[in-house]
Amino acid sequence: MIYLDYAATTPINKEVYDSYCKLLNNYYANSASIHKMGLKANEFLEASRESIANLIKVKKEEIIFTSGATESNTLAIQGILSSYKNKGKRIIVSSIEHPSIINLVKTLEQDYEIVYLGVNQDGKIDLEELEGLLRKPTVLVSIMHVNNEVGSINEIDKIGKLCHKYSAIFHSDITQSIGKIDCDLSNVDLASFSSHKLFAPKGSGVLVKKQNIKITPLFYGGGQENNLRAGTSNYPNCVSMAKALRLLMEKKKENYIYIDKLWNKLYEGLKDNELIFINSKKGCSPYIFNFSVLTLTSEVLVHSLENEGFCVSTVSACGSKISKGSYVIKSITNNDKYASSSIRVSLASITKEEDIDKFIEAIKKIIRK
Ligand code: PMP
Repeated sequence: MIYLDYAATTPINKEVYDSYCKLLNNYYANSASIHKMGLKANEFLEASRESIANLIKVKKEEIIFTSGATESNTLAIQGILSSYKNKGKRIIVSSIEHPSIINLVKTLEQDYEIVYLGVNQDGKIDLEELEGLLRKPTVLVSIMHVNNEVGSINEIDKIGKLCHKYSAIFHSDITQSIGKIDCDLSNVDLASFSSHKLFAPKGSGVLVKKQNIKITPLFYGGGQENNLRAGTSNYPNCVSMAKALRLLMEKKKENYIYIDKLWNKLYEGLKDNELIFINSKKGCSPYIFNFSVLTLTSEVLVHSLENEGFCVSTVSACGSKISKGSYVIKSITNNDKYASSSIRVSLASITKEEDIDKFIEAIKKIIRK
């Protein structure tokens, strides 16, 4: 099979895997234990915290390890709302956030005013529109950096500055941007990401929380993660995530240039077909390419591609068992047809150029049939 679903998850990098196995076999102590083995484990945990902090240019104390981006997003939003009860009842999120944000804020609609900020045809929020909304007191704004279905990029630095001008707290989901494109967190108060999108094992993530921001924990127990995330630390995963992130960051520019070439190849190969509408726009993250085949539903196309030897996603992997079509594509294109027939191809530096040629041929063959 040719795997073109790296935005859903990645395989483990071989170097990361080797050190992960060593850690699991030789350093299995609880990092909270006070004996020698526990202290060693804690040393590894803290070194990985420091390494991630340095890579993304935040402070070591601002890294909270979690089980993944879903938990980080939940901790950020619930944690802020519990800590800033007197700061107002208005929350702004973009209409194309990941389900871990959209479905969470939906549950808050009775107690909060949730504003779903729409996006333009490029899948981006409009800064002026956001500023207009911020004129009413707002406790929290959550807007993702790179969208997981189409790859559109929001200007999180400018958004952060705008939020601060109006005293709103700014959270951003950076799961699809970290390690891939430049990600400046200077004006972001909280940021979430997952280990398994970075060629590290599944089951870990980070919530970056700036020191001046307060959150209330979701779980109570031991005092792990500075009392903000109780539970035995999964430090072999944290160490692996730190290593995987470093390896990606070292090759970020080189990878970007190569993947951009693959993205353009897909674009050129599919753009002239009258039955295809390309939902991702030039200038988006080249790691994600989304298009609709107007004569087929997403599900039929995914399975037809599977028969041709390709793994791709319909909507985000997290929503792919929900068959209503993509709310992200609907929000961007305002077209039900595009929304119910969209496909996400997601690339990595290990994707071969010839596999893109094969993919284009396979799409053409499926459409002809
Ligand atoms: N946010 C974004 C943008 C994502 O792409 C994902 C993964 N699909 C998540 C959050 C959730 O990550 P996880 O499933 O690792 O918790």
